[in-house]
Amino acid sequence: MTSSAGRRRSRYWHAHNNKIKMAHRCKASNQLNDFKRTCVAPEQCTTSQGHPMDTKTASLTAGPRGPQLIQDHSYIDEMAHFDRERIPERVVHAKGAGAFGYFEVTHDITRYCKASVFSEVGKRTPLAVRFSTVGGESGSADTVRDPRGFSLKFYTEQGNWDLVGNNTPIFFIRDPILFPSFIHTQKRNPATHLKDADMFWDFITLRPETTHQVSFLFSDRGIPDGYRHMNGYGSHTFKLVNDKCEPVYCKFHYKTDQQIKCLPVDKAAELSGSNPDYGIQDLYNAIADGNFPTWTFYIQVMTFEQAESCSFNPFDLTKIWPHSDYPLIPVGKLVLNRNPKNYFAEVEQLAFCPANMPPGIEASPDKMLQGRLFSYNDTHRHRLGPNYMAIPVNCPYRARVRNYQRDGPMCVDDNQAGAPNYFPNSFSGPVENAVHSCSPFQVTGDVRRYETGNEDNFSQVTVFWNKVLNEAERERLVSNIAGHLKNAQIFIQQRAVKNFSQVHPEFGRRIREALTRLEGPTAGQQLSSL
Ligand code: NDP
Repeated sequence: MTSSAGRRRSRYWHAHNNKIKMAHRCKASNQLNDFKRTCVAPEQCTTSQGHPMDTKTASLTAGPRGPQLIQDHSYIDEMAHFDRERIPERVVHAKGAGAFGYFEVTHDITRYCKASVFSEVGKRTPLAVRFSTVGGESGSADTVRDPRGFSLKFYTEQGNWDLVGNNTPIFFIRDPILFPSFIHTQKRNPATHLKDADMFWDFITLRPETTHQVSFLFSDRGIPDGYRHMNGYGSHTFKLVNDKCEPVYCKFHYKTDQQIKCLPVDKAAELSGSNPDYGIQDLYNAIADGNFPTWTFYIQVMTFEQAESCSFNPFDLTKIWPHSDYPLIPVGKLVLNRNPKNYFAEVEQLAFCPANMPPGIEASPDKMLQGRLFSYNDTHRHRLGPNYMAIPVNCPYRARVRNYQRDGPMCVDDNQAGAPNYFPNSFSGPVENAVHSCSPFQVTGDVRRYETGNEDNFSQVTVFWNKVLNEAERERLVSNIAGHLKNAQIFIQQRAVKNFSQVHPEFGRRIREALTRLEGPTAGQQLSSL
């Protein structure tokens, strides 16, 4: 039998070892311990109606062997809620991480924009951010090759401004009618429920406007090292309007102050198995450790006259605006200094829409932007319900929402109490103010469906290949493309080589050679017969 001195010694060592173990665990792993430290004592457990519960471990039964009684309301209350815990996963950007912080103005841009968020140097506006991968499901790995979502919600006094960006300044397509098909090819084959290289490369190669984004995707930046070490871009062309109602076109860039860091392919693959939540964990721990990530926020500006004479379509989302012609203008800093208190409440329910723009920021003719203006709020109405904007994390709490919308499922505020619910009215209901009109603009052109597939798909990719990438980066780009493309059928590979050859003959040749090395001489001969 163990002596009492022995038991004391054993308890001491157990506590001591546990202390050492806890000291070595990251902040995310210690979250429950941190919660415990904030509690003086556990609180009384209740039902969802607030009734104190006598036990959480025994259901109500007739006799010790059952059956269970339908009057066991505590059980039914809990089980019925459990059965409804999941809401629909986002169709795209399902896996993500969120954080909160502020935006601080460091440079005056009021000559371009009257939005209150930019009104004075030093002004801070609270901010929510969600980072994500695009194609994978909510449980998928953070370290896959995929664009990353980088969306910002500024809680301004004139309503929320959502900048629903990515870590790339461009996108695969330029007409939103292609979006559902494009996303289908990035997700699972409907018969096999597997990712499918034929689907992926068939669409990509049939729509060569994807070549620019595909070249970014298969470059080193296609696998960022977590979410802190990547840039963000509003991607679309927007309009900024000043207090004289003078508009300019604009692009938004937010560049990481942590420096760009990407994961080597083998390390990323290893992490996909050993720590699929690498990105969420990295962000959580950095913020919990007080190592707050920051980004420097810039705009590029193009006047309407410049847009008229621009050598490319400035509203084409597959194109960047060259820095030499449209230099980056510094505006402010994004700082992330708070982790979500609860992931579901503040990240899973965080709902962005590019249509959420306060006065001073407006849409441009960018077709992809126009398509997104509709789609995002539409999906939130489906996922979260028509009153999704009243969920605390989505609520424009720094503005006072006063309108004529009423009722609907999950109306959880006072529903604007006794204010009139029709307009116009004679009873002091909220009124409009023309000072907030959008800037007028002219539109001309015949209404028809314009095909855009052949609008200069390669020239900016040529600059990327020739001037942006160094030789080692080109080699990795070729190897990454060939390593994925080899899984598609030969005729699709042929089409891909043809497209990449139009960027630069050497780009195409090197992909063909890499495929030949991977696939063997017969396939190589077929590819050479181009
Ligand atoms: P610049 O030389 O002024 O800029 C090159 C840009 O490329 C920088 O923004 C740089 O980002 C970025 N970059 C570097 N490596 C990669 C990569 N592997 N994947 C994606 N972007 C990368 O040239 P231009 O503005 O004239 O643009 C030339 C080409 O650079 C474009 O055709 C486009 O392909 C690419 N590019 C341009 C951007 C723009 O907004 N102008 C933005 C991103 C890419 P950083 O400074 O953060 O390192």
